[in-house]
Amino acid sequence: MSTVRTRFAPSPTGYMHIGGMRTALFNWLWARHNGGQFILRIDDTDQERNIAAALDPILQAFKWLGLNWDEGPEVGGDFGPYFQSERNDLYRAAVDQLLADGKAYYCYDTPEQIQADREAAQSEKRNYLNIRRSLELTASQKEQFAAEGRPAVVRLLVPRDQKIQIDDAVRGHVEFDAGLMPDPVILRANGTPLYNLATVVDDAQMQITHVIRAEEHLSNTPVQVLIYQALGYELPQFAHIPFVAAPGGKEKLSKRKLDKYRKSPQFKKMFDKADSVFPRIGLANAEGLDPVMVEYYEKIGYLPEAILNALARLGWSLDDKTEIMSLDTIVENFTLDRVVKAAAGLDPDKLLSFQSHWMNQLSLDEKVAMCSPYLVKAGLVQDADDETTKQKIGQVIAGMEDRLKIASDILDFDEFFVADDQMEYDSKAFKKRIQNSDQAVELLGKIKNQLAAAEDFNADGLDKLLHDFVEAEGIGMGQIIHALRVAVSGKATGIGMFDCLSILGKESCVRRIDRAMALAQSDEN
Ligand code: GLU
Repeated sequence: MSTVRTRFAPSPTGYMHIGGMRTALFNWLWARHNGGQFILRIDDTDQERNIAAALDPILQAFKWLGLNWDEGPEVGGDFGPYFQSERNDLYRAAVDQLLADGKAYYCYDTPEQIQADREAAQSEKRNYLNIRRSLELTASQKEQFAAEGRPAVVRLLVPRDQKIQIDDAVRGHVEFDAGLMPDPVILRANGTPLYNLATVVDDAQMQITHVIRAEEHLSNTPVQVLIYQALGYELPQFAHIPFVAAPGGKEKLSKRKLDKYRKSPQFKKMFDKADSVFPRIGLANAEGLDPVMVEYYEKIGYLPEAILNALARLGWSLDDKTEIMSLDTIVENFTLDRVVKAAAGLDPDKLLSFQSHWMNQLSLDEKVAMCSPYLVKAGLVQDADDETTKQKIGQVIAGMEDRLKIASDILDFDEFFVADDQMEYDSKAFKKRIQNSDQAVELLGKIKNQLAAAEDFNADGLDKLLHDFVEAEGIGMGQIIHALRVAVSGKATGIGMFDCLSILGKESCVRRIDRAMALAQSDEN
């Protein structure tokens, strides 16, 4: 059997679509599963803008996820060039071969003629097919057209008596009637190739064995099959995989629908997170990072393991129950017969649960390394390599426990990193727990004195101190703990109280309690 060769052929759009990444992953997995090759080819025939800049985020997404390519941009290979814009001679040669073999023809029809042909077909209630009047032209007529500068496209001469059979690895046996197909344009009048021609020439010449792509291309496949046959190429195995749908919906996930997604309950949390995190780390929303793009997940602090796990489960399963899988496990088990036909919806909650799992697999040092850049970019930490700072970040992360899901979650615990006099009090919590709470200020004054005098300023020592305090005062723990939390952290919730106090340290705790008491009293006046 020949070596399995798969490819992903993105158009450089300036970002990597999460659904496209899933298609790429399936190609990569199938190649790796079979010990074959995965090729990255750039469909840049229609591009006028700066290709390098538009391609960069796409390559970066592959690198971030660790999906290496055996041939393509940056790495080269024996079947290059890997940019369609550099392969024009090959397309031209294929078109010339088809013309010479009588399998394609120059079509001189004007748009008006074609429009009239279509209308005639419609009024006679028959399927529109090309009239092929250009086949009847004499050499001198053609010369005359050429002299007039009349544009001519090249069309494939569809063999109308054929049934086109496709055995798709996902969709099964699909049949198309060539007798119903108009002759497709394969070369524009300006000499540039159409997608269907370029793709077939590339896939064949790059010896691609499996074409795994989104199901929206199934309708292109009959034309491509005819081109394969006309050029005498062997057909690859096609596999048309279901599209990635928007959360909770059945329609394809699309950047054009971002306004709608913003309002969708399933998606809202992702947008809210972006709104809170990106401006703080110096990435304005204007930069356009949204959850349709792979870059969003990288920048907000997801792990490649979680994204790969989630993408693999979008339309593929190992069995009826396994959700959590490492990339190695997925590679080992990936087969096309377990790809489903139905659209697979992106599920932000499920994605977060994968993320939470993979985050929990990291060592504390690894978590510190992931979270620190967020603190630095937000200006909360100057030098993340400083040992004392590192230790403190580690203590906060340990205290966060399961609340650390994505790396930027550390920013929700900024109370540990802001200066004592800069910390903001959540006004609702402050009113409820301190200002409008009987005895709160008085109790805070007392506990502050005890904290100031404490010798064991660690979680165990503070645990004992607090318990002795409530016993001596004859109050419940709830009467002091909430006020104390708001006083030292500014927030209603956070990590375990004793850990919180010990990480902040005696001086900060005392200063913050003083500040809270002063604030409560000044507001009272
Ligand atoms: N550039 C095409 C796309 O992004 C490639 C389609 C194919 O895989 O044949 O949709």
